[in-house]
Amino acid sequence: MAKMEFKSESKRLLDLMINSIYTHKEIFLREIISNASDAIDKLCFIALTDDKLGMTRSDFKIEIKPDKDARTLTVSDNGIGMDKDDLENNLGTIASSGSYKFKQEQLAQSENAQDDIDIIGQFGVGFYSAFMVAKEITVITKKYGSDVAYKWSSSGADGYEIEECEKDAPGTEIIITLKDNTEDENYDEFLEQYRIQSLVKRYSDYIRYPINMEMKKSRPKEKENESDKTEYEEYYETETLNSMIPIWQRPKKDVSQEEYDKFYSEKFMAMDKPVKTIVTSVEGVVTYKALLFIPSATPYDYYTKDYKKGLQLYSSGVLITDSCEELVPEHFRFVKGVVDTADLSLNISREMLQHDRHLITIAQNIEKKIRRELTSMLGSDRENYEKFFKAFGRQLKYGVVADYGMHKDELQDLLLFYSSTEKKLVTLSEYVDRMKEDQKFIYFATGENAAAIDALPQTELLRSKGFEILYCTEDVDEFTLQSLMMYKEKRFCSATNDDLGIENDETKEEEKDSSALLTFVKETLGDKVAEVTASKKLVSHPVCLTAKGGISFEMEKYFNSVQPDSGMKAQRVLELNMGHQAVKTMESLIQTDIDKARKYAEVLYCQALLWFAR
Ligand code: ADP
Repeated sequence: MAKMEFKSESKRLLDLMINSIYTHKEIFLREIISNASDAIDKLCFIALTDDKLGMTRSDFKIEIKPDKDARTLTVSDNGIGMDKDDLENNLGTIASSGSYKFKQEQLAQSENAQDDIDIIGQFGVGFYSAFMVAKEITVITKKYGSDVAYKWSSSGADGYEIEECEKDAPGTEIIITLKDNTEDENYDEFLEQYRIQSLVKRYSDYIRYPINMEMKKSRPKEKENESDKTEYEEYYETETLNSMIPIWQRPKKDVSQEEYDKFYSEKFMAMDKPVKTIVTSVEGVVTYKALLFIPSATPYDYYTKDYKKGLQLYSSGVLITDSCEELVPEHFRFVKGVVDTADLSLNISREMLQHDRHLITIAQNIEKKIRRELTSMLGSDRENYEKFFKAFGRQLKYGVVADYGMHKDELQDLLLFYSSTEKKLVTLSEYVDRMKEDQKFIYFATGENAAAIDALPQTELLRSKGFEILYCTEDVDEFTLQSLMMYKEKRFCSATNDDLGIENDETKEEEKDSSALLTFVKETLGDKVAEVTASKKLVSHPVCLTAKGGISFEMEKYFNSVQPDSGMKAQRVLELNMGHQAVKTMESLIQTDIDKARKYAEVLYCQALLWFAR
């Protein structure tokens, strides 16, 4: 029979597995058990919705069988099984695994073996991790609904074979022939029942199906005479090694943060530690338990279409769907977790799920719960909140802008902006609380970064008067504030607005009768500007451009980048600093050398444009 090659891109990972110096080789058992549990989930779901199968939930189990003579460890399940295509697609290439792409990217980037090891440690790499301890793996499997069973076998990098074989019931049997012991490694440990027992307890305790093993035990023999010596006899007894209580069903006080973190990283293939773990148990109109995690780092694909939001949904311990989108609102799409409720019918279809009123209620509760937790974190654990905000603040801002600002009231108090006076991130409420008595607006300024904004002539007066300015350095920032419009009855005002609502005392006296100069400059520049005014906000700079009407420069820039023919244009106002020497010189040149005065007007306009182009 011809040997099939592993897909070439899988080779590096496989090589790594086979020659792994990774110290936690033991995690292979967790990976194999977790696959068995997933396979049972699939068949169990069919069993519960289709009587024809003739199985109930309690019929499903995983079995572990060590054989010291053959040096094999066998893990069997009565789950969905695999057909030939499945074997080729799933075990012929590692690329079928969901997290494969990410692992590959990480491996490609990593430069040394230590990184590789960390990556293995963080994720486990599924089925292939068994090659860390196996010299050969045989998979005997029969898919539910199929008449033919198959045997897949491989001793590693040189490929695999598939042939037909006999197997009665659907399910899968993974037979791992352990590597020979070496001086450093004792693979026999994985045949010891106590070792297996403790590994299952440690890594797979919450698996919701029994993981059984026949345990060799001994007991005192019955004595014939009281005075006889006690003799012992051996016997076998099947024991369930795991407690089967999923972590989200256990009371919070009984679970350590470490256990939650471990569950989070294993279940969601996450490399970070959650910044917040939310455990909730609700009884009432709807009854459910939820275990939610707020990540501390943005997943690599978060802002791409590959990222799938949603929570795992269980109905009384049976997995309904891996990611139920309806359970989290778009603005909290970073939340990961599990919801388990008894209120859903197992027969529910995907379409019906969306309209299920229990589910809608749960989703509403969850939204509120997340919001409350974030608010309390902001209040009592600012450092962690800022970490969270750095990762997902942009998402919250999108949330404010989305759906015509429908969610802004719920989200506005979760926002942070960098403050010109505080030199740190502040909330809108903190800003408003320290507004000056005569301050009409909440000021913000947009630019690439804080330094660029500080250099804007338009912010000069605000800064010199000591008004706090919120820095908008992300493209969504200004839209967020535009969508909010007001906060605690204070309007937002861009530093590049023509009216900042403040009087500049120094320029006041200069205002008198400058109309001739303003008209001259406007006529010189023609349609380039909508208006030329005597500035109330410039202090040391001669000129600046501001926007009149509803469209700001940033909006103009944004709309023209996404839709170049939108024709969206801000109305430019050229503000002149009447007290500035350059402006004064231009004014006097009108009388003596009108051509030169015109050149001055052009140059000053260009200078204003330069700031604007930053
Ligand atoms: P992952 O579990 O991340 O998808 P694995 O390499 O562990 O990656 O497994 C690859 C695929 O092989 C699984 O997604 C599943 O489709 C299939 N598989 C593995 N073990 C079993 C099993 N015991 N029963 C049925 N299918 C299995």
